[in-house]
Amino acid sequence: MARKGFITTNLHSDRRGEPEHGVLHKPVHPSVAYGYSDARDLAAVFQGKRAGYNYGRQMNPTVTALQDRITAMEDGLATIAFATGMAGIAAIMLTLLRQGDHFIASSFLFGNTNSFFGTLQNFGIEVTFVDATKASEVESAIRENTRLVFVETIANPVTQVADLANIGQLCQQRGLIYCVDNTMTSPHLFQPKSVGASLVINSLTKYIGGHGNALGGSVTDTGLFNWESYDNIVDTYRKGDKTLWGITQIRKKGLRDMGASLGPEAAHHLAVGSETLTLRMDKACQNALVLAEFCENHPRVSRVYYPGLTSHPQHELASTLFGNFGAIFSLDLDAQLDCFDFLNKLDVVIASSNLGDTRTLAIPVAHTIFYEMGPERRASMGIGDSMIRFSVGIENTEDLLQDFEQALA
Ligand SMILES: *Cc1c(COP(=O)(O)O)cnc(C)c1O
Repeated sequence: MARKGFITTNLHSDRRGEPEHGVLHKPVHPSVAYGYSDARDLAAVFQGKRAGYNYGRQMNPTVTALQDRITAMEDGLATIAFATGMAGIAAIMLTLLRQGDHFIASSFLFGNTNSFFGTLQNFGIEVTFVDATKASEVESAIRENTRLVFVETIANPVTQVADLANIGQLCQQRGLIYCVDNTMTSPHLFQPKSVGASLVINSLTKYIGGHGNALGGSVTDTGLFNWESYDNIVDTYRKGDKTLWGITQIRKKGLRDMGASLGPEAAHHLAVGSETLTLRMDKACQNALVLAEFCENHPRVSRVYYPGLTSHPQHELASTLFGNFGAIFSLDLDAQLDCFDFLNKLDVVIASSNLGDTRTLAIPVAHTIFYEMGPERRASMGIGDSMIRFSVGIENTEDLLQDFEQALA
């Protein structure tokens, strides 16, 4: 049978196997624990000899259904869901790295990821930040104790596009774990497996959930990394199917021991939201391009950052890799305009910190999400005081255009 398309596979995934009562939507299962009429079965589940559920911190049927959807979307091997995207990132780093290890990260990172990588240094895990738009910069930073490379697809807020394919090749040649945060592109625009990613992170809170009503994160193992050669897999998990060693360690240590588990209600919201990912994302990308082009030609805007603009340094790369350009763009206002005055004039667009919602949101970056890191680090990331980031939603294009027109007038 021919392999079905992205949307069809996702929509019908709940009905694979034999869903309870023939349900079309996977139900919310709030039960924390599971009873067994034969106590030997309970033991077998604990020992991993039999499939089944034991305690909600590690597994829940509603969450499993969501994990399977993400695995299908990313064309991966297996996925673990977490309470948030940050919990997923933390689980990877804390379970796969040890004191004395080194990793390389893009300098252009989500603010909280950047902050967390700083925290890791307190535990003796070293990080080097490099310009990930050039694989050569990553290569120069590799040391003997380098274990892992971490990049985002399209960075936020300046929208740099990482040199994803070349970094992938490099990681493969040097035996490094390649982590790609796919949040900004989502598996609809891009599958990091296609550039050799080992682990793919998605903040489900953003485009996959898409409605700003539930937090969640996921880590997908693409099956491309050879875990047998990775010393940091502990003996307990060096058993059975070798391809699953990495994701098992992330699940057991990261989820079971650290406990940032996704709840079933949130999983349900995220799963329902994911069904319209492609429709929402296509519309949001289309709106973003129209608005970015409008702003680029507006005299009161000094600069626009959006991979869809031919002026963007990685425009060609983004069009080859993603086929579309995402729904985030940023701008620097003309020096005469105050960013707060401009934001307050916007009527349809809401001043808010989230992204990937159906509604268009805007945030003055230097004064909010990147405030804590201070002016120097901001400058090194290309973030000026008047920069505003937009997360473009799915409103009627005309209404957004009019809102920008009147607010800039
Ligand atoms: C939001 C975000 C995260 C963190 O996700 P949460 O679900 O908010 O914890 C990680 N990476 C990127 C690129 C993000 O935009």
